[in-house]
Order: sequence, then structure tokens, then C-alpha cells
Amino acid sequence: MFSMAGTATPTPRTAAWRQARRAWRLLYSDSQRCTAEADAALANARRRGDVGAEGWARLARGFNLIWYATPDEAMHELNRATAAFAATGDRAGELLAEVGLARSVWRRGDYRASLQRVLRLRDEGLQRLRDDEQGMLLNTIAGCYSELGESQQAFAYMFQAMQALRAARSQGFDVVLYCNLAHELIQLGDYHQALSYVEQGLQRCRRLNNPRLLSVLAINLVICLTSLQRPAEALPSVHQLLQLPADGSGRGPANAHYETMALAALRAGDLALGERLLALAGEALDRHTVPDERITLQVATAELLLARGRCRDALAALQPSAAALCAGRVEGVSLRVHCHFLHALAAVHERLGDAPGALAALRLWQQRYVERGRMASEARYQAAALQTELLRLQAQLALAEAGRRRTERAHAELEAANEQLERKVVEVQTLQQALQQQATRDFLTGLFNRRHLDEVLPGMLRQAQREGQPLAVAIIDLDHFKSVNDVFGHAAGDRLLSNFGRMLAAHSRRSDVACRYGGEEFCLLLPRTSVAAARRKCQQLLKLWAQGAAADAPPAMPPLSFSAGVADSLVAPGTPQQLLQAADAALLRAKRAGRKRVLGHEAARAAA
Ligand code: GH3
Ligand code: MG
Ligand code: MG
Repeated sequence: MFSMAGTATPTPRTAAWRQARRAWRLLYSDSQRCTAEADAALANARRRGDVGAEGWARLARGFNLIWYATPDEAMHELNRATAAFAATGDRAGELLAEVGLARSVWRRGDYRASLQRVLRLRDEGLQRLRDDEQGMLLNTIAGCYSELGESQQAFAYMFQAMQALRAARSQGFDVVLYCNLAHELIQLGDYHQALSYVEQGLQRCRRLNNPRLLSVLAINLVICLTSLQRPAEALPSVHQLLQLPADGSGRGPANAHYETMALAALRAGDLALGERLLALAGEALDRHTVPDERITLQVATAELLLARGRCRDALAALQPSAAALCAGRVEGVSLRVHCHFLHALAAVHERLGDAPGALAALRLWQQRYVERGRMASEARYQAAALQTELLRLQAQLALAEAGRRRTERAHAELEAANEQLERKVVEVQTLQQALQQQATRDFLTGLFNRRHLDEVLPGMLRQAQREGQPLAVAIIDLDHFKSVNDVFGHAAGDRLLSNFGRMLAAHSRRSDVACRYGGEEFCLLLPRTSVAAARRKCQQLLKLWAQGAAADAPPAMPPLSFSAGVADSLVAPGTPQQLLQAADAALLRAKRAGRKRVLGHEAARAAA
């Protein structure tokens, strides 16, 4: 019934197996039936010693436990799912259990570890998993990037998740994407847009039976309305949330967000409700409370104390995090909450009559606020593309659904809708490539950027080591470039950098990687090239550059030159970092020896 493209599972499709798979497919659309079916399937499977079915039943249970129990309990169940899948050789199941384990690590607030875990699965997952399951994998990656404050990456992966989502099988996962998109827009401060996605998500959520998803959307609604200074409108949602049971039939105990609701209540002027919610938040506080929730709790507590005129106590409430959050970014704390905190700190200082303290906090707030604005504008392109795609996909989804209902009467119509969907996928892929390009290219020179270098260097080095061939690295730094800017202006400097980039690109082989390393520094990765050959190549480039032929420089420009350091993986074996350092050290020697030269790591060692 569900053809699993490319996944030849050897598991026999018994009745228990089918029941377990049915449970798994209900994960988003009906969380209660999902759990009930999974429990029944597990009992059946164990009675019959049906390990294949046990895997899927435990997988469905494990994913529910992520939200309705502690991360440790979820991991325990998911590890048992993994063992069952491993025993039956069901690789797709194993990959999904791994995604669940990464989600559990994420739930613990350990976002970097979660990202590492899930990134490892990406390539195989995209080959082996069904469309909507790929979406779950990609969405998990997006969630990690989002929490790490890397909005661009988060958007790119959400975008890809959406691409994986096919109309026929969305099973409620589209609502998850609405919810996450809204969350990301909230983090960037675009509350209006976020609100519209939350509202649409809530609309769609009505056809599902998933109280947890409903509660996450409602919390996002509360955040949007509070941030848009309409906290009173958030109160009905707060009451609705409080009525949802905090167990497996409701929003889940791990997802209370009392502190966020408290903030809304306080700002709406309902101090009694705010105080009650703060008490609940305090009770819910445990080792699973993530940094954002902890900080929001401090902010809400301080606001309550301020409202009661207890300014000193308000300051004391903020004290535990003040030093760290004033010193700079803290991993796991979003810019949104960071801004909140600094704003509250300024308000408390002001009320205490400490004008310099208030001003200092406001300055820091402004820095974070500007940083957030910058991130928002960088992510704007991704966000716009994503939003358009979401709208269009939803339109297609509606179209396909309507088409399916008319199937008996009008088969042709359905085919047309499907065809359109196929075209859509190609279109989305093209856009995706453009995004990829944008994420890996340096704007000024058109060369790859440093992020790309960091991504590809470890793989190229491993390849070189496997082949027993050298991989050469050259770091090139333009000489006295500051004076070019000083004398001829920044625009002329930019033009030279762009010309230099063009020259590097024109003289690179297909297998070479030419990057802008930063400022006026460039880096070449040359596979199957020794340090001596790389040095000769850079010397040729130096000659070309010095002749000015490649530079298209104004006549008054002094002679152009650069210094470079080269190394290869045979003469400087070790990690990618060590290889770069070897080239960098050679570059430093080239500068010290008077510039306008290329020194190799080996030569430098011989000379030493
Ligand atoms: P050295 O020979 O020691 O490398 O001297 P230098 O002047 O090249 O090195 P320094 O590090 O002092 O200055 C680098 C200059 O490069 C300063 C900075 O303004 C300029 N620069 C960095 N990025 C850009 C850019 O994108 N455009 C322009 N026009 N200039 C840049
Ligand atoms: Mg430099
Ligand atoms: Mg320089």
C-alpha cells in the first residue's frame, strides 16, 4: 500500500507490522490514536516475536515520548527501536530512529550535538526515506540551525523540507512547517508575518487531532501578540492552553511555556494570573528547561516585581544571567530573548534611578537589536522564497486534494494536477540551487566563501589521503592593500579584489577550489598537487598580477603584488586546520621576507 521507493525492506509485512506502520503514519494527524495503535501493535508484535513490527511500534512510541515524556525516556524507547531495526536490517527505520534520537538531544537543549548527529544522516536519509520522512529529517536539521541562531541555514533546510513534502502524503506535517516558519520569523522579529502563519497553521490544525501541535501554535500566537503590544488579545489563548491537559492526551509536560504566558498576562495587566503562571513555571523548572525559557522566566519575574514596586528584588531576579548576557552572545539563547533581557535590565536600572546602568544596558540592547536586524535582512531572501513556496505548495495541495475527491469522475484532472506538481518540484529544485549558490559564494569576487572552504576541505583531505596524493593549499594575501584603499578609495579597492577573483577563477582547474578567505586574503585548494607545483603556479599568478594585465588598474596605481604561503598534505600532514596553519605560517614568512613572493612550507623548513 505504501510503496517505499528505493527501500527494499526485508521485513515481512505481517498484520502487526501493518498496524505499527499505521500508528507511525498517524504521528502528526492524530497523536492519541497514534499512541494507542502503537501500544497495541507492540503488544501484538511481542506476543508473536515479530521484531520488524516491534521496531515501527517503538519508533512511533519514541517520537511521542519526545514530547510527552523526558528526553531520556524517549531515547530509551528509540534505542530499542534501533535495535529492532538493526536486527531485521530495516535501514529506513534505523535512520528514522536516529532522527528521533537527535530530536531528543535537541529537546535537552544540546543543539550542537543534535545537529552533528542529524547531519550525519542527511545524505543517506535523502536516498532511502519516503518524501514526508525526508521532510522530518530536514526539518530536524532546520530546528537545530534555528536554535543556534543560523537563520539562513534554517530557512534553507525548511525550504528543502517543504520540497520533500508531497501533497498526497502530508499527513499533518504541513502544519508543523507552518509552525516552524512562524517560529523562525518570530526569532527574526517579523511578528506580523509570523502571526499570519500561526493563524493559518491554527486553521489547518483543526482538521487534525494533535493537541501538542495546537499548543505550540498557541504559544507562538501568544508570543506574536505580546510582542506586537497586543497582550490582552493573547489571554484567551493562555486560558485555552491552561485547559489542555499536561499529559499524553494534551500539550505534554515538557512543553508548558508558563513563563511566556506569564509575560503576556503581566503585560496585559493581569498581575494575579501572571503570578500564578510564574509559580507554575518555577515548579516546572528542571534540568530539561532550555536557556530561552530560563531567561524568559527571569525577565517575567523581574517585570512582576517591578509592577509591585520591588525594584531591588527585580534586579536580583535578573542578576544570575546579567554578567553572561552583558558580556556577549550565549549559545542557546536566541537574540530575541537576549534583547528582552537587556531591555528588562535597562528598565530595572532606570527605576532604581541608576541612569548610567540603564544607559549601558540600553547600548547593549541596541547592539543585539541591530545584529538581529542584520540577520533578518540576510534571511529575508530565504524567507521570501520560502513563504512563496509554502503558499504555492498549499495551493497545489488543495488542488490535488480536490482532484483526488473527483478521481472517479475525472481522472484526467488529477493527472494534470500531478503533472503540475512535478513541474513545481523542478522549479523548487532550481530555486534551491540558487539558494545553495548564495550560501557558498562570495558576493564581491564570485569565488567560493570561507564557509564553503570549511565544508569541503575535510572531505578533500580525506580523499587525498585515500589516494596517497598530496593536496596543496595556498593562502594569498595582497600586499599593501590598505594603501590602495587609502589612496584610490574603497571602490577602486573593491574593483581590484573582484579582478583578482576573476584571475584566480580563470586560472583554476575544475577540481581546484578558489575561495575568498576574508578581506584581501584568498585561498586555493589544489588536489593532486605538490607544494613545489603549487608554488610554481602561485609564482605564475604573481607574475601576471604584477604585470597589471589582470588587474585593469588605473595608470597611477603603484605596482601590484601579493605574498603567498603554500603547503601540501604530505609535507604538512595532520588535520585540515594544521594544513591551513602551515600555509599561513609560510605566508607570514613571505611577508616578513619583504613581500612579493611565494614561500613553501618545505622550503621554509629547509631554511630554518
Ligand atoms: P600587508 O602587505 O601586510 O598585507 O598589508 P595590507 O595593507 O594589505 O594589510 P592590512 O591587513 O593592514 O590591511 C588589509 C586591508 O584590506 C584593510 C582593509 O580595508 C582592506 N580590505 C579588506 N576587505 C576589503 C574589501 O572588501 N574591499 C576593500 N576595498 N578593501 C578591503
Ligand atoms: Mg591580510
Ligand atoms: Mg594584505
